[in-house]
Amino acid sequence: MSDLSMLINGLKVSAEKGATFERRNPLDGTVATRAPAASAADAVMAVEAAAEAFRTWSEAGPGERRALLLKAADRLEAKTPQFVEAVSAETGATGMWGGFNVMLAASMLREAAALTTQVAGEVIPSDVPGSLAMGVRVPAGVVLGIAPWNAPVILAVRAIATPLACGNTVVLKGSENCPRTHQLIIEVLQEAGFPPGVVNYVTNAPADAGAVVEAMVAHPAVRRVNFTGSTRVGRLIAMTCAKYLKPVVLELGGKAPLVVLDDADLDDAVNAAAFGAFANSGQICMSTERIIVDLKVADEFVRKFADKAKGLPLGDPRKPEPVVLGSVIGMPTVQHCNALIDDALSKGAKLVCGAKAETTLMPATVLDHVNPSMRIYREETFGPVKCVVRVKNTEEAIACANDNEYGLSAAVFGRDIARAFNVARKIDSGICHVNGPTVHDEAQMPFGGVKGSGMGRFGGKAGIAEFTELRWITVQTKPRHYPF
Ligand code: NAD
Repeated sequence: MSDLSMLINGLKVSAEKGATFERRNPLDGTVATRAPAASAADAVMAVEAAAEAFRTWSEAGPGERRALLLKAADRLEAKTPQFVEAVSAETGATGMWGGFNVMLAASMLREAAALTTQVAGEVIPSDVPGSLAMGVRVPAGVVLGIAPWNAPVILAVRAIATPLACGNTVVLKGSENCPRTHQLIIEVLQEAGFPPGVVNYVTNAPADAGAVVEAMVAHPAVRRVNFTGSTRVGRLIAMTCAKYLKPVVLELGGKAPLVVLDDADLDDAVNAAAFGAFANSGQICMSTERIIVDLKVADEFVRKFADKAKGLPLGDPRKPEPVVLGSVIGMPTVQHCNALIDDALSKGAKLVCGAKAETTLMPATVLDHVNPSMRIYREETFGPVKCVVRVKNTEEAIACANDNEYGLSAAVFGRDIARAFNVARKIDSGICHVNGPTVHDEAQMPFGGVKGSGMGRFGGKAGIAEFTELRWITVQTKPRHYPF
């Protein structure tokens, strides 16, 4: 018997033949959740329910959509304790992270509510006499949202909130690592009163992800796909979407650089770097992964940064004492980070704080004197192990920031704002902050990356463009001239 249900056409359902899978707590291996393991046929049923509901939901006025999204935001906040418990049981994250997730996710629902009256269009001058020509944004159809575990409330809400605001119906494919956290979001939407079939929820066993996703992408009613996750899986999904000609928003991995120029306020840069590097144990797509420091200030920066990192409390997030670093998602992260540490040390890097870990409780770890020969210079750690690269000048800092396959977030610290801004302009990333951390998200901002970090934008009006169809509609108001 599963602890959880999927949601299809407003009904709580099990998977075909009652199939289930388990998610275990990463720290002690206890079963955190048992969830339905959908078959491809189950997933198709969810799409068909969404397709049926689209007929009426796409005609609902903005006021109705707005009211439901606002109600959902309130219900989400009211369930903060349940979210905090589920996030820490399933992913090992801290209470601080769970609480922050709920706060930003609620703000995303409220922003989506505000967007309902912004799904608009324009009148375009036509060269045909008497032709009233309009470009009109209309709901696209069924939107498939695929969300990861690392910012579980934020990213699953993001996958469906703007699509719903635009008049689409949705199927959320939950993460195998946090099906209960994602189901809580679905519960919230149901309690808010979304009509049956408007929001559907499917969970699958890890081995079935490819088949379940392809069955949904292939369905003609699915008109948009969005995926947040690794670049490796993003490529697979892009290929599946190409096969069926489905537009897709891809929010993928990152290796965010934080550049410290020679005139930076070092205390400010240290605080931003520590927050960006170690929030949620470095498991954020915008995490500060490379700290690129001008040689002139590098010794002082590294000393202060290591002192700050050493003081960050680490522990079991389920205990009452608050911690900054909880458990990472699983032993593969520990093994991956340990291999990156070994590789860097064998090629001359210096360990300035932290260490290799033996359990999923990983300390804040910093490697200095990292250079391009080391794997950690390029590869996403997605854990609390971060590197410092020393550079001779501003030009070298820009070259180093761009010497990477990813391009999601970046930051530049310097007191000469004009110079720092000009450095920011030359960094090839979707997002860049001057004198602010790489980890920064707000519901109304255009969020997304370039290069290996993906394509398309969530957030504010950029999201409307992704999840609507732009139609050209004309009305001929005078007799039209025809050549024959
Ligand atoms: P992941 O790519 O391993 O898994 C995410 C999802 O992919 C899951 O729902 C899974 O079911 C699905 N999946 C796995 N194999 C599949 C297949 N063959 N076909 C179709 N779907 C498949 O990612 P993860 O480890 O859960 O998340 C971490 C990664 O996500 C990191 O690289 C991180 O940088 C990135 N991320 C990006 C953003 C962003 O906004 N750009 C945000 C958060 C995380």
